[in-house]
Amino acid sequence: MDKEPTRILLIEDDEEDFILLQRLLARISAASYRIIWEKSYKSGLARMIETEHDLCLMDYRLGAQNGIELVREARRRGYVLPIILLTGVSEGETDIQAFQAGADDYIAKDQLQGVLLHRIIRYAIERKKSEREREKLLSEQLAAQELEKRRNEFISIVVHELKTPLTSLKGFAQLLQRRIAKVGDEQTGNMVKRIDSQVNKLTELIDDFLDVNRISGGKLQLRADYFDFDALVEEIVVELQPITEQHTIHCTVTSQKVIWGDRTRVGQVITNLITNAIKYAPETDRILVETDVDGEAVILRVQDFGPGILPELQNVIFAPFYRIDQPENRAVTGLGLGLYISAEIIQRQHGRIWVESEKGQGATFCFSLPITQSQASTELEGDARQDQVVSEEVR
Ligand code: ADP
Repeated sequence: MDKEPTRILLIEDDEEDFILLQRLLARISAASYRIIWEKSYKSGLARMIETEHDLCLMDYRLGAQNGIELVREARRRGYVLPIILLTGVSEGETDIQAFQAGADDYIAKDQLQGVLLHRIIRYAIERKKSEREREKLLSEQLAAQELEKRRNEFISIVVHELKTPLTSLKGFAQLLQRRIAKVGDEQTGNMVKRIDSQVNKLTELIDDFLDVNRISGGKLQLRADYFDFDALVEEIVVELQPITEQHTIHCTVTSQKVIWGDRTRVGQVITNLITNAIKYAPETDRILVETDVDGEAVILRVQDFGPGILPELQNVIFAPFYRIDQPENRAVTGLGLGLYISAEIIQRQHGRIWVESEKGQGATFCFSLPITQSQASTELEGDARQDQVVSEEVR
């Protein structure tokens, strides 16, 4: 037996039917019911709006108006509780009309009996409850998605606003560098070079942030094509060698493969791994970069001789915003996003990225990528086709 009686709002203009229903409900031993009786369309509607009950049971015939109209009106006014319509024998298609108006169930008066009524009432209440819970969940999900969408849009705007002045700062720094070079003022030239490199650092941080935003919004697009893997690696090594005076980057390329993938994004990963080696192994003088083939994949290895990474951190460092907290890292700028973005780029192209390291023995960051289009992802092929029509959103 339920603890609290189920409150039934009964809208019924016929007193005899009210008494009949009262008796029926009183005889149900599995539950207890309390009836709130209203005799007319108008008073019934007013009671419905108060929602001081658990379910509404109403007669089809309500004087000049009918129950279907009342159901429709109550739903229009936002009534969310279950409604069961009582129909007479001659009411024909009322069942369909009742559902269309927003009733949850109907029962013909000539079939009224306790067990059936009890079952219909219970199911209607439970169904409505779970329906409302589902709706609530759905609207919460939609609200969360909307918030996420707005957050991503906001970040895009902020990033754009930050990048505009940086681009002009960089332009002026380069202009100044050229003018100073003509005059031969080395000291001022070095200062401007430092401005330029700080602007570059800031731009990289902002770009990483933008990429993470794209990843979380599912908008990181890849443009696939065939490209010479070794040539890309050599090009990046040549580009990065000047940023470190201390290290010599030794490059040994032996893959000799043209592979299918996003050249710029793969280049971004290679750059990230080599700049990490420069950043996190500052007391050393060598970095080894190698390419190789393993079956149907090319491999890249970037080896440094710095502090290395503890085994238990070797997976964690690929998580977003993760940075190893150790004193020698504190002076190194970064948001802990480079490896996360790299992993996303490699995995989206059906490759694998990992690190091999022993604490104190340096670290070797590696990735493998499928060589041919058929081994690469179909998702990537889709992106490539899409990119022919989508404008320069990515870079
Ligand atoms: P960031 O360099 O911006 O902090 P990354 O995602 O590139 O972010 O790297 C995450 C963390 O992994 C770094 O903060 C650093 O602690 C560690 N790490 C990355 N590369 C190396 C490396 N070559 N040697 C030692 N630690 C590294």
